[in-house]
Amino acid sequence: SFTSNKIAAGEVVDRPASVIKELVENAIDALATMIVIEVRDAGKEYIRISDNGSGIYSSDVEIAFERHATSKITQIEDLSSTLSLGFRGEALASIASVSQVELITKTEEAPAGIHLELHGGKVIFKKEIGCPTGTTVIVKNLFYNTPARFKFLRNNTSESSHIIDLVSKIALAHPDKGFKLINNNSIVFVTSGTNNIFHTITSIYGKELAKNMLTAHKAENNYFVEAYFSKTDMYRGNRQQQAVFVNGRLIKSKVVTEAIDEAYRTLLPINKFPICFLYLKIPPEEIDVNIHPAKTEIKFSNEKLIKSLLISTLKENLLQEKL
Ligand code: ADP
Ligand code: MG
Repeated sequence: SFTSNKIAAGEVVDRPASVIKELVENAIDALATMIVIEVRDAGKEYIRISDNGSGIYSSDVEIAFERHATSKITQIEDLSSTLSLGFRGEALASIASVSQVELITKTEEAPAGIHLELHGGKVIFKKEIGCPTGTTVIVKNLFYNTPARFKFLRNNTSESSHIIDLVSKIALAHPDKGFKLINNNSIVFVTSGTNNIFHTITSIYGKELAKNMLTAHKAENNYFVEAYFSKTDMYRGNRQQQAVFVNGRLIKSKVVTEAIDEAYRTLLPINKFPICFLYLKIPPEEIDVNIHPAKTEIKFSNEKLIKSLLISTLKENLLQEKL
């Protein structure tokens, strides 16, 4: 029912950035290679996600907005091995229940696309439309029918910076896909999608930052790390420009944070943090994913090995740099 969708929406959707996260993950799941994210008024008034992925069959568009509607794998084993946490079939239903949503979508084979509009989860109209293969989801007036939740949102500066940080990290996690982020009619960044991490970092954070980065890679047993990290004269007051991607997915890990701190321990001023993007490839069976939908926290079965691999990768190159 619409009521239960509204309640469920609190779990999946608590701010514009979480709407964007769900919609961009859907675009990635649909094998899109180019994804455009446009927001106005920090996403409170308008969010648009356009992709060139598979599109949705005309007969499936309404079903996609039903709770627990998913066309994706739901096996627990699959979840832990692919590290895919997004398959639970409630994002579209939850988002639609607290906003006004437009969906424009077309599959490769379909002669025409479908344009569907829902208000508060209720279908307002559905008609054919000419459009390219792929999907556009527009979310207008988020929380218009849940004023209590709308009031809970932070100011535009704060919500925007959450969005920019989120989309930056998603783009870093997927250097093989092109991302374009537009905020109030101005382009924040465009990545090329040519599967080059260094170019992706440059597109997002600028040439100045990129040219002061060190890069290194190292393997031990079946563990592989590729690191992009700052020289010691370039640091930040927080950890916003630190990110860890395990098998292609952004995660949080205390072990990794400790490794970064340890590697830089004698080199940085107090309360300063290096910029550091770490790409880890680990056998999936050596990762323990906590399967709570909102969790990105994971456990490594061999924390010692992870830690020593990361510390040595960073430290060897930092010391080299000092000479
Ligand atoms: P889930 O992603 O967990 O399956 P969602 O509510 O996010 O659930 O989406 C429901 C369904 O709608 C998906 O399983 C998928 O079939 C379809 N869908 C949503 N977004 C897209 C998209 N951008 N491209 C293609 N299909 C999509
Ligand atoms: Mg989804």
